Amino acid sequence: VSSWDRLEPRELARVQDQAVRAQVRDVVAPFSPFWRNRFAALRIDPAGVDGTAALARLPAVGERDVCPDGDPFGMAALVIQAGEAQFALHASGPTLRRAMRARLTDRDEYRRIVETDTRATAYVFTGLGLRYPVASTRSDLDLVARAGARLCQLLGLDLRDVLVSTQQPASATSFVALQLAATAAGIPAFFPGGDLEDVADTLRLVPATVLAVPASSAAAVIDQLGGMAANLAAVRTVLLVGVPDEEERLAAAAALADAGGPADPVVLSVYAPAGARLLWAECRPAAVAGQRSGWHTYPDLEVVQTVHPETGQPTADGEPLEPVVTQLGFHGTALLRWRTGDLTAGPVTAGPCPHCGRNVPRVPHPLQPGALVTRLGARPLDLRPVAGAISARPDVADWRLVVRRRSRDGRPQLLVDYEPGANGSDPAQVAIALASDIRAAIGLLPTQLILRPDGELARLPPVGSALTGRMLVE
Ligand SMILES: [Zn+2]
Repeated sequence: VSSWDRLEPRELARVQDQAVRAQVRDVVAPFSPFWRNRFAALRIDPAGVDGTAALARLPAVGERDVCPDGDPFGMAALVIQAGEAQFALHASGPTLRRAMRARLTDRDEYRRIVETDTRATAYVFTGLGLRYPVASTRSDLDLVARAGARLCQLLGLDLRDVLVSTQQPASATSFVALQLAATAAGIPAFFPGGDLEDVADTLRLVPATVLAVPASSAAAVIDQLGGMAANLAAVRTVLLVGVPDEEERLAAAAALADAGGPADPVVLSVYAPAGARLLWAECRPAAVAGQRSGWHTYPDLEVVQTVHPETGQPTADGEPLEPVVTQLGFHGTALLRWRTGDLTAGPVTAGPCPHCGRNVPRVPHPLQPGALVTRLGARPLDLRPVAGAISARPDVADWRLVVRRRSRDGRPQLLVDYEPGANGSDPAQVAIALASDIRAAIGLLPTQLILRPDGELARLPPVGSALTGRMLVE
């Protein structure tokens, strides 16, 4: 689609609805073991998922839903399994006809056609509470590259640009997708590795106009490069890989000026949530009247919706919200209604971007990446299944969960304050049921369940920082 970013709203909706139907009915429902079972268990007919509105009614899933025991092996159930017996219904018209012909006459040719779309050959590693591989087929990598070319357009890069990255090489979307993006856009790109001596040497060889730096350490890295007399004079774009806060952006720009670069570089962020294979980007210009553009998504390659982070229920009201991603046209690890674990300040923004005019949905600022998976001491703690288990209980009227360190000895604690339902629930029974549900959800009992009857809960002083109204982390 040449006009991927300029479709009229009605046309965009039509394109998305069609892609959702194809992805759900022809790819995910028949060939993803996880979703095949889930559709059956929920008694949902995949044929009824006929567009984005119906998609939003499918329960969203996260890491713990796919791997209830915390074993990343479970993620394999998300990978599209298409063998000889399962014909790839999702193929496009011409490919489908070619495959159908080959199926009758040339079995090897048939397999080759099918496997380009269905055989996973490339992997990136990701995850918040667990670390797992995300599988891509050859055709998936083509989509990542195609989105990458658009990413470069969004960033305002052109053929005069030269990109140098200070990233540590990794099988991660932030690294792989950026490489594919530069390749697809025809932009010379250098990834000398995380050793800054090597980066400085590279910057002596090539006049970088784009410097890609991990968002969290950008200013320090640029400072160090400056100390090594690296040539940063031509850098007009600082690409922060990850989600920077305002301070980090300003510090990166200031560091560049101090290091001999221009005083007013454009500072943009590219970001991929856990599980995703596409990098989202802010558009150039970075800000209009102090407003950030948000991360632009690819509406023909994904649908980004939101759920309430405490319940997992679909909603675009209130804040913060958790973005949920459905990939379109992807095979390999095909994510459907995937909970990112991030928190955004509000719903995905629709309509033309006031900065660049592209009609693509945008994930708004500020964004807290991975905020819903925290740590309890040494182990990761996914707060979503805990909150989901509590809010699913009809005998709990209200609740709050707090992750903190006990002041006495610094031991990590998961505390649950709860108010039993008004319908005569026995608080002790409620506590037992709650504890058991939480253990079933995360394999761990809460440190303490605290009964807070008669509106006491509402009067508790706030502690630490509130991720959401009911989830607090000290
Ligand atoms: Zn824009």
